Amino acid sequence: MIDTKILDEQYISHTYSRFPVEIIEGKGSFMYDVEGKEYIDLGSGIAVNIFGACDPLWVEAVASQLGKLQHTSNLYYTQPCTQLAKLLCEKTGAKKVFFGNSGAEANECAIKIARKYAKEKKGEDTYKIITLKNSFHGRTITTLAATGQDVFHNDFLPLTDGFIYAEANNIESVKNLVKSNKVAAIMFECVLGEGGVLTLEDDFAKGLYSLAKEEDILLICDEVQTGNGRCGEMYAYMHYGIQPDIVTTAKGLGGGLPIGACMMFDKTENVLKYGDHGSTFGGNPATCAGAISVVSRIDDKLLAEVKAKSDYIFKSLSGAKGVKSVSGMGLMIGIETEKDASLVINECMSNGVLVLKAKTKVRLLPPLNIPMELLERAIEVIKKACE
Ligand SMILES: *Cc1c(COP(=O)(O)O)cnc(C)c1O
Repeated sequence: MIDTKILDEQYISHTYSRFPVEIIEGKGSFMYDVEGKEYIDLGSGIAVNIFGACDPLWVEAVASQLGKLQHTSNLYYTQPCTQLAKLLCEKTGAKKVFFGNSGAEANECAIKIARKYAKEKKGEDTYKIITLKNSFHGRTITTLAATGQDVFHNDFLPLTDGFIYAEANNIESVKNLVKSNKVAAIMFECVLGEGGVLTLEDDFAKGLYSLAKEEDILLICDEVQTGNGRCGEMYAYMHYGIQPDIVTTAKGLGGGLPIGACMMFDKTENVLKYGDHGSTFGGNPATCAGAISVVSRIDDKLLAEVKAKSDYIFKSLSGAKGVKSVSGMGLMIGIETEKDASLVINECMSNGVLVLKAKTKVRLLPPLNIPMELLERAIEVIKKACE
């Protein structure tokens, strides 16, 4: 640990403030540090390891593909990305998929589609995209512009032009922007993750959908964090009975390897043409083989388990001593604590439970298949830490 910490400080750009823990191994919902200490992991590497660490079926799928071919270019056909795209389309009704390597890239792709669609349908001057205040859409200059939080913007101006921000759960604020601007798309998360695990209300989500439909504005749902079973449905928008025109996802999709996907529905499937977009690693066979093993196991049984675990967490923590409120959906949960969230997080860590932060809240993103008995143990630790 000492060596790694010193080397990290010397050689790694100081963009992360890390906890004083060096993780060297994981198994299922457990993580182990270099001193041999065991942790129950309620962070999943920020919603990535949805079947925990080194899930055997995922390891087997990736390893077996690695033994055949680790990469080729997108100049040739390969089976894993094709199969994964088919699976995603079958599970969502999407018509086409573009693969990149991260959430930010999935969103970049969506933004390019929205700009091109609007330009072709409504003319050059229609390019504005409405996003929500406190949203998070990525770290590139364009997805930072989409991110409705000034703290991320200030040192990097000017950002990409054309993003305007509405209040989450305030449909009038969206309508006002639509009235006074030429709007190409509305982009939103169903649960604002980095923004403090704030869930969109049913009326608001339905309101976005009808507004977008009436005005032929594209609806882009950013499911980078909420997707792939995390919120108790395959994708969180499915809770609302709405249909986005584009859905982006990443994080949990690859089960631990980098991948991003931009899914296009009826209106958007043919917007991108040859040469409009690309990615060297996008659709990588090993990554996609792992993703197939993940996505094919997100079924009704797993989703029912996610909902049951979610109910358990809400019941255990709501009204517990030191807990002001519990928010979120499925296994994406925010806990507003009386104590400073960082104190709670550190106390949990000393007691062998890894949890995350979102704004001023403690955030939980456990592996979807965490055994109930481990979850119960971890929640007891959290409750004690909140007292
Ligand atoms: C994490 C996240 C992103 C960015 O994903 P990266 O893979 O880090 O580029 C975008 N949108 C949401 C909602 C996220 O949670």
